[in-house]
Amino acid sequence: CGIVGYVGHRPCVELLLDGLERLEYRGYDSAGVAVPVRGAFVRVRSVGGIAALRGAVAGDPRQAALSAATAGIGHTRWATHGRVSEGNAHPLGDDRHRVQIVLNGIVENHVELRDELRADGAAFASETDAEVVAHLVGRALDRGLADAVRATLDRLDGHFAFVAASAAEPGVLVGTRRACPLVVGHRDGERFFGSALVGLPDDLHGAHAIEDDEIAVAEAGSTQVVDAAGAVVRPRWLELEAAR
Ligand code: GLU
Repeated sequence: CGIVGYVGHRPCVELLLDGLERLEYRGYDSAGVAVPVRGAFVRVRSVGGIAALRGAVAGDPRQAALSAATAGIGHTRWATHGRVSEGNAHPLGDDRHRVQIVLNGIVENHVELRDELRADGAAFASETDAEVVAHLVGRALDRGLADAVRATLDRLDGHFAFVAASAAEPGVLVGTRRACPLVVGHRDGERFFGSALVGLPDDLHGAHAIEDDEIAVAEAGSTQVVDAAGAVVRPRWLELEAAR
């Protein structure tokens, strides 16, 4: 339902929680954040509101890792496939703990993808349609996260937007979308992903919309947008005042 992402130079958990709060008006049933730290992810999820998630973050024993992370993703979920539970809340990971993803919308061919992944030995941890995306990205990482997302996009039917993070590339976030909105905002070297511009800070210096089947690769200080074939495309800049 709501997606946020941050990559930059500041501790980001608060920024992610603030972004999720700004997207609260859309309604949701559970929420979560995940940050890559030292080759692994720290993930906190909870059923209920952002206040509950804030409480879970504050009570988490991994404070040092949570407060050190300068990249991460967050989500508010409106369950479509799989009941409302902490285990079905996003971010969702692959079974090799390599990636975490947050996804809005619906993956229509999730049953067939799940069967295929199971036949290949994948172990699923949630009842969601979205988890197949984490496994597909996780299994395609040999040429890096951006190529893995591009290969995964090619396998998906449906309408969705998602942002992926890889433990091996903690300074990179990769987002894509098809028929669900996703934007990237800039503020100096910082990059923010959001499912809506209102989920991003007010003092952005610029923002662009990702078009259907385009992939945005964001790092501190740079963003590159490529099409489904991997060719670099020019971003579509938004008029910030008009868009708000
Ligand atoms: N279809 C996904 C799920 O049920 C995402 C729903 C949403 O947009 O929040 O987990």
